[in-house]
Amino acid sequence: MLLEVKDLSIYYYTLSGVVKAVEGVTFSIDEKEWVTFVGESGSGKSTVASAIIRLVPPPGKIVSGQIMFEGKDLLKLSEEEMRQIRGKDISMVFQDPMTSLDPLRKIGDQLVEAMTVHGVDEDEAKERAKELLEKVNIPPDRFDYYPHQLSGGQRQRVSIAIAMAFNPKLLIADEPTTALDVIVQDSIMDLIQSLKEEGTSIFFVTHDISLAAERSDKIAVMYAGKLVEFGTVEQIVENPLHPYTQALLNSVPDLWTEKPIKAIPGYPPDLRNPPRGCRFHPRCHVFAEKGELKGLCDAEEPMVIEYEKGHFVACHLYGGSRNE
Ligand code: ATP
Ligand code: SF4
Ligand code: MG
Repeated sequence: MLLEVKDLSIYYYTLSGVVKAVEGVTFSIDEKEWVTFVGESGSGKSTVASAIIRLVPPPGKIVSGQIMFEGKDLLKLSEEEMRQIRGKDISMVFQDPMTSLDPLRKIGDQLVEAMTVHGVDEDEAKERAKELLEKVNIPPDRFDYYPHQLSGGQRQRVSIAIAMAFNPKLLIADEPTTALDVIVQDSIMDLIQSLKEEGTSIFFVTHDISLAAERSDKIAVMYAGKLVEFGTVEQIVENPLHPYTQALLNSVPDLWTEKPIKAIPGYPPDLRNPPRGCRFHPRCHVFAEKGELKGLCDAEEPMVIEYEKGHFVACHLYGGSRNE
C-alpha cells in the first residue's frame, strides 16, 4: 500500500466557530492506483488533499489521524523531512496553475529550480526541463516564456511538467481541469493518465462524478466532511449504496439511457454546526420516506462498514450504528 490515511480529522479554527471540515476519514491508495474524491463544494476534498502534503492552510489544523506514506507517518516527520518528500515523492497540481507558478519568472527557470532544490545539477536540470516541456506538448522554444504568455491549458501543462520532474510516487491533482474548456480538459486528463502508466498513483479531486468514473480505479464520495462511500468505480457506479452517492449519480446526464437529471434538493450543512446523526439526513429521501429511520439517522452517526470486499459505506441502511 502506498498511502494509508486513517481516521483523519481537520478543523478550521475561525473567529465565527470551529469548522469541522474533515472528520474520521479513512482510505488507502495502492501503487499505480487512481483514486478520485468527489462531492459537492465544501465537502472537504481539498482539505484532505492539502493534508497529505501537510499544507492545510491556516486557520486549519489536523486534529487527529495518521497519514502513512510508504509505511512512514507523514504527520510525525520534521518540516525538513517533509520538504524532501514534497515535489519529489509527492507532487501536487491545483485548479489554478498560478497558485504554484511564479508570474515573474520564466517557466523554464521554474522547472529547473523544481529539480535543483532537490539536488539535481543545473545542466542536467536544464536538459530534463526541455524534455519535460516536450512531454507535455509545450514547444521547447517556450522555455523563456513567462506564465502570462501561455494559455490556461498550457500553464496547467507546465505545472504538470513540474509535478512530473521526479516521476513522483503520488500525484495529488485538485480539480486540475475545472477552469479549462472540454478539449483542453481531455488533454490534461491524458497527461495524468500517462503519468499513471509510468507508475505514479493518483489522488484526483473533482465535483463531477462522471469525470471521476472515466479514468479512475476507485472513487471516494465525501459529504459534509465525511467519507460516505468508497469502492471501485464499478462498485460505486453500478451499485451505489449511499443515498448521497445515488443522488450524485442521478444529478449528471447519462448519455446512454437519457434518464431525467435530478438535482439534489437542499444545501450542504454549515460545518460549524453539522446536523446530528447522519450529516446527510436533512436531505436524504430515504430518511424522509422511511418512518422507522426516525430517531436513528437523526440521532446516531452511521459508522463505516465494509459492505462487500473493498466497498465501504457509512449509512444506517447497511448497519454500522454505534450501538450495534
Ligand atoms: P470545493 O469543491 O468548493 O473546492 P472542497 O470539497 O474542496 O470544496 P474544502 O475547500 O476542503 O471543500 O472545504 C471544506 C470545508 O472547510 C468548507 O466548509 C469550507 O468552508 C471550510 N474551509 C476551507 N478552507 C477554509 C479556510 N481557510 N478557513 C475556514 N474554513 C475553511
Ligand atoms: Fe439517509 Fe439515514 Fe443513510 Fe443517512 S444514514 S444516508 S439519513 S438512510
Ligand atoms: Mg476544493
